[in-house]
Amino acid sequence: MSKRDYYDVLGVSKSASKDEIKKAYRKLSKKYHPDINKEPGADEKFKEISEAYEVLSDDSKKAQYDQFGHAGPQQGGFGGGFSGFGGGFDDIFSTFFGGGSRRRDPNAPRQGDDLQYTMTLTFEEAAFGVEKDITIPKEENCSTCGGSGAKPGTSPETCSHCAGSGQVNVEQNTPFGRVVNRRTCPHCSGSGKIIKEKCTTCSGQGRVTKNKTINVKVPAGIDEGQQIRLSGQGEAGINGGPAGDLYIVFRVRQHELFERDGDDIYCEMPITFVQASLGDEIEVPTIHGKVKLKIPAGTQSGTTFRLRGKGVANVRGYGTGDQHVHVKVITPVKLNEKQKQLLREFAEVSGEQPNEEDGFFDKVKRALKRD
Ligand SMILES: [Zn+2]
Ligand SMILES: [Zn+2]
Repeated sequence: MSKRDYYDVLGVSKSASKDEIKKAYRKLSKKYHPDINKEPGADEKFKEISEAYEVLSDDSKKAQYDQFGHAGPQQGGFGGGFSGFGGGFDDIFSTFFGGGSRRRDPNAPRQGDDLQYTMTLTFEEAAFGVEKDITIPKEENCSTCGGSGAKPGTSPETCSHCAGSGQVNVEQNTPFGRVVNRRTCPHCSGSGKIIKEKCTTCSGQGRVTKNKTINVKVPAGIDEGQQIRLSGQGEAGINGGPAGDLYIVFRVRQHELFERDGDDIYCEMPITFVQASLGDEIEVPTIHGKVKLKIPAGTQSGTTFRLRGKGVANVRGYGTGDQHVHVKVITPVKLNEKQKQLLREFAEVSGEQPNEEDGFFDKVKRALKRD
């Protein structure tokens, strides 16, 4: 299966800015997030989007991709610096990806397949980082036979039908003449070897699946769809080849109060119209604890205040984002008689119109009179 162009995947042009790429990603990842979109194929689509964004959002990977395309040297997450892993997760899906094993020589060393694991984090875990053990089923060389598949003390023999190549010529008579096809050798199933006495531990496979616990250090500031690569933590290599890598893709649960955009956090704070009119000091929850916020007298509903440095630490170490507090003035309901009376008096004293500055209310009144 050929890979789609990353720019096509995100629906942006090659000259798209970082911001445009990010916007496109956020829109698509919301649309296809498996928690939201249950349509068949949404999960695949989500992975495709995440992968495209992982590359196009990173300057060096993007440059590499622009130059070489998909054929370029494969770079994993950010460095293989996060080593260590472990287990115990409900949402494990370890799938093989890539690993196109075009077998030419069945005895040549081959790199083990890459593994992918999806880790779901809470909002705070993503913001502050966390260490988690995950357990993943991994294929490893059988320790009883050292990966040969033969009973200890014996060794596999070269298949006499294909002379160890794993392939045989099959001649066929067709209406157009004799045709010779190369086929996988049916005697050794393409391995080029025949095991007379099979190792009992792995039933001659040479490999066993074991649950491996790996400790994962999730860096602070990781965000939805980002991934890290744990180099050499994928499937064991074949015929002495290097092990594959393990990619951990992150999903971040929604928070009941906060919404995140990059390193910034957004939240809405309800205030009374009295607080908005007279001003007040309110307490605002942040992921770093409660913070006092001064509401100036005459604050309008929809005003946004910025709490500097109360956002999320940048995952690459470039400072910390802010928290934006969107103030919402709540109109009181279920007033008692005394409150109603006070408000009527207030209205009378005010001359029944809101005394706002730009005269918007006057304009509305004039417009109403015109009809
Ligand atoms: Zn074995
Ligand atoms: Zn054979």
